[in-house]
Amino acid sequence: MPGSGRASIPPVLAGAVETTLRVTYAFSGACLDFDDFEFDPIDSLEADAERAAYDSVASLKHVRKRSNGEHTIIRTHGVEIGGDRFVVMAGPCAVESERQVMQTAEAVARAGARVLRGGGFKPRTSPYAFQGLGLEGLKLLRKAGDAFGLPVISEAMTDGQVELVAEYTDIIQVGTRSMENAALLAALGRCTRPILLKRGMVASVEELLQAAEALMAHGNPNVILCERGIRTLGKLTRNTCDIVAVPLLHHLTHLPVIVDPSHATGRRGLVPALARAAVAIGADGLLVEVHPSPQKALSDGVQSLAIPQFERMMQRLKPYFQLWAEERALNETPVAAPR
Ligand code: PEP
Ligand code: MN
Repeated sequence: MPGSGRASIPPVLAGAVETTLRVTYAFSGACLDFDDFEFDPIDSLEADAERAAYDSVASLKHVRKRSNGEHTIIRTHGVEIGGDRFVVMAGPCAVESERQVMQTAEAVARAGARVLRGGGFKPRTSPYAFQGLGLEGLKLLRKAGDAFGLPVISEAMTDGQVELVAEYTDIIQVGTRSMENAALLAALGRCTRPILLKRGMVASVEELLQAAEALMAHGNPNVILCERGIRTLGKLTRNTCDIVAVPLLHHLTHLPVIVDPSHATGRRGLVPALARAAVAIGADGLLVEVHPSPQKALSDGVQSLAIPQFERMMQRLKPYFQLWAEERALNETPVAAPR
C-alpha cells in the first residue's frame, strides 16, 4: 500500500522528499518515474537505494527513463509491444518441418497469440543437439506467419547471420548466450528490425540494460527486453525467474519488458502459473514455447506446451488480461513519438 509506509512521517514531508529526488534526477538529464514501483521514502536508506538505482542508469542515455516519463512502443505489422494490449508471442522452440510450424501457427493464432516464434539457428548447450534447420527454418517460419497473419520472431546468433535473419523475420531475438556478444549487438544496432534482447542467464539487470544501450547506441531504437530466468540453485527448475525485474526495469527504462515463462521454468507444468504472474506484475507480453507433440520435439520439449494446454492457458489468462488493461489505463504515461 503506497500510503501505509508514510504514516510515520507527515505526508507533506514524504511528498517533498519524492519531489526533491525527481527534480534532482531530472536536472541530471534523466528521470525515474514511479509507475508500478511504489517509491515511498520513509527513511534516508530508501532514498539511498533509489539514488543507487538512478546511478546504475545515469550513463545509459538511450535506455534510461526519459525526463518526461515517456515510454516506448515497438510496432511491427499492426502489433504494438509496450502499448495498451498485452502481446503473446508463441510457437515452437525450433522450426522442425512445414507441418509442425503450420499446425502450431494456426493454433496459436486462433488462441490469441499475435506474434509467431520459431528458431532457425538454434544455440544449443550441447554441440550434439539439434542445431535448427537454418535458412530453411526461417523460410518455413515466414510462410507460416504469412499464412496466419502473424509477424514472426527468430534468433540471430552471429553478426554474420543478421542480414539473413532480418530478411525473413519481423523481430530478431538475441538469445541468453549472446547478450554479451558485442559484434552481434553492433550489427543488430545497425539494422532497422525490432530486437528482442534476452537477459543473459548470469547477467544482472544493469548488464541487461548495458547490452540494450549498446543496441541503441549503434542506432536501433526498437528494443524489447526479455526476462527469461537466471541461474540459481537446484535442478528442479531450469532457471529462476527474476519476476521483480519486470517492475524494476519499467522503473529504470522506457523500453517494453516481456517474460519467457518456458525457459524461465524449463517445465511445461509451471508455465501457466508464471505466465499469470507476468501479466499480474505488468509485463508487456510473453514469449511461450508451443509444440503439436512436445514429447517428439527436437528441442525444449519438456518446457513446450501442447496445443490444448496453450489454449487452456490463454483462456485462463483472460480475466488477468482484463485487469492488466484496466491497470494500464490508470497508469497512463506518455508515449514516445514513433521513429
Ligand atoms: C529460445 O528462445 O528458444 C532460446 C534458445 O532461448 P534462450 O536464449 O533464452 O535460452
Ligand atoms: Mn527454446
